[in-house]
Amino acid sequence: MKSITKLDLQYAHRFYGFKGEAQYLHGHTGILTIEVEDTVNTGVNMVFPCNEIQKTAWDILKNFDHALVLRDDDPLLPAILKVYEETGIKDGTPQNQMKGEAFKTELATAYPDCRLVVTKETMTVEGMIKIVYDLLKDKLNIAKLTFTSGVNEASAEFVTKNNIDRCPLCGIRMSDNGVCKKCGYKH
Ligand SMILES: [Zn+2]
Ligand SMILES: [Zn+2]
Repeated sequence: MKSITKLDLQYAHRFYGFKGEAQYLHGHTGILTIEVEDTVNTGVNMVFPCNEIQKTAWDILKNFDHALVLRDDDPLLPAILKVYEETGIKDGTPQNQMKGEAFKTELATAYPDCRLVVTKETMTVEGMIKIVYDLLKDKLNIAKLTFTSGVNEASAEFVTKNNIDRCPLCGIRMSDNGVCKKCGYKH
């Protein structure tokens, strides 16, 4: 069975080199739907608590929220970093608090201090699904991802392969030492 959750991300981007309006900088509210598949955990009668899926995803994906997403060869990138530098916000401000942990994968690098994500490929809805899967595939049993942004939507299905040990009392992933960090249950 599947547990399904949604979260939204507000971001700015553009399609560098694209022949259309999207070559101009613009913004979206993107909606990501994450479908996690596993057996029903008989202790709690759920696949996985949806708020825990959200939390796991949000810890990483908040790097995309109120962020600028640019491709690594986009000339806007050095121009914007120059302005951020000159105005003293490139390395963060006390008001920039909703920071995720920085990440670097083959497809994307997050710079939380200046709310920037630099991507290898254009961040279309398809591109976002590739990035998100890569970031979350080892943490969640992702069966399907759907990303919607304006009139654009893409989805992809995946074969789940993580054998996630779940707490029979609260349903979250057990820590590696066999203790549930939420409710303290031990195997
Ligand atoms: Zn767009
Ligand atoms: Zn527990």
